[in-house]
Amino acid sequence: MAEHVVIVGSGPAGWTAAIYAARANLNPLVFEGAVTEENRQDGTLPLGQLALTTEVENFPGFPAGDLSGFLTTSLDEEHRYLADMHHKQGVSGPELMHLMRKQASNCGARIETDDIVEVDFSNRPFKLKSLGGKEVEAEAVILATGARANYLGLPSEDKYKNRGVSACAVCDGALPRFRNKPLVVVGGGDSACEEADYLSKFASMVHMIHRRDELRASKVMADRVLNNPKITVEWNSVIDEVLGNDETGVTGARLKSTVDDSTRELEASGMFLAIGHTPNTRFLEGKVDLTPKKYVVWTTPFRTTTSVEGVFAAGDVADDYYRQACTAAGTGCMAALDAERWLASQGL
Ligand code: NAP
Repeated sequence: MAEHVVIVGSGPAGWTAAIYAARANLNPLVFEGAVTEENRQDGTLPLGQLALTTEVENFPGFPAGDLSGFLTTSLDEEHRYLADMHHKQGVSGPELMHLMRKQASNCGARIETDDIVEVDFSNRPFKLKSLGGKEVEAEAVILATGARANYLGLPSEDKYKNRGVSACAVCDGALPRFRNKPLVVVGGGDSACEEADYLSKFASMVHMIHRRDELRASKVMADRVLNNPKITVEWNSVIDEVLGNDETGVTGARLKSTVDDSTRELEASGMFLAIGHTPNTRFLEGKVDLTPKKYVVWTTPFRTTTSVEGVFAAGDVADDYYRQACTAAGTGCMAALDAERWLASQGL
């Protein structure tokens, strides 16, 4: 028998959709993603991008404070280690995501730790296939697969991934290999500024590599970087090659000027990419309308409807503008309500 609603993805959008769908008695099935090496490399493991961050200061309801007692009583035994690791400064990304997952499960959502790799939206009920070989049918689908960090695409960058090359300063920046060493951050947006500022707490200095002579970041973030004595912006420069060796991984970077043909080398023990994101929509190509940047298109203003009736989208998979945990959660709620109302209108 077909599921009422299948939710694909396990960030704030997916779990909020699951909580609402479960409370509406739709018995939702969530595909939270698979735990594979490829997903780890791509930054697409279950629980999404927030699971790769540290403090979350802007999710309403979690002011600074000691949550360890709450985490002990709210999470399953297997996740209580989070309470022991809790830093007493408010909620962290991984804690917030485990709390959302637990809340969805408490409400009755069923969870598969598996990726959806193929969809057939040409007829209803829709058909979905998972990496693990599961085939499910669904009357309604909520897409909430989020987005992942971009890389430059250089072979030398690929060679040193996890050996000094990272797209998540807050996940990796505190590792011993980066401490008191010069580091490189690539990009000129808010993320690059945030990462450079964060890394300057551990590094001896941070070189921010930007391809233009002006930052894209908001003034407050740009000022933070420009006034930080441990950060130097290398203007009009791109990474020509990541330098390193098999023994130590990254040892530096060769920069190429964007205004003339000159190159120069910098010493660095790590390179952090902050050059934007790509939505996780590979499995949706040709199945539902996507923007030129491959985000799912919301077809009606202030609704989560897509080009396929009965398929809804929530969170960063359809939003390259706000990209916040609480906006993703908000659109997850909207998608569940839209799905519920659409199912009712179909008599399902
Ligand atoms: P972004 O604003 O798109 O910035 C990406 C940066 O990477 C740009 O400076 C871009 O250069 C550069 N870039 C892109 N591709 C490149 C390539 N192949 N080689 C070299 N450089 C490349 O992305 P973001 O910084 O991740 O921010 C995304 C959104 O999230 C924004 O709306 C931002 O305001 C928001 N955000 C907010 C905060 C905050 O408020 N705390 C923190 C993080 C993100 P160009 O400038 O030349 O295009």
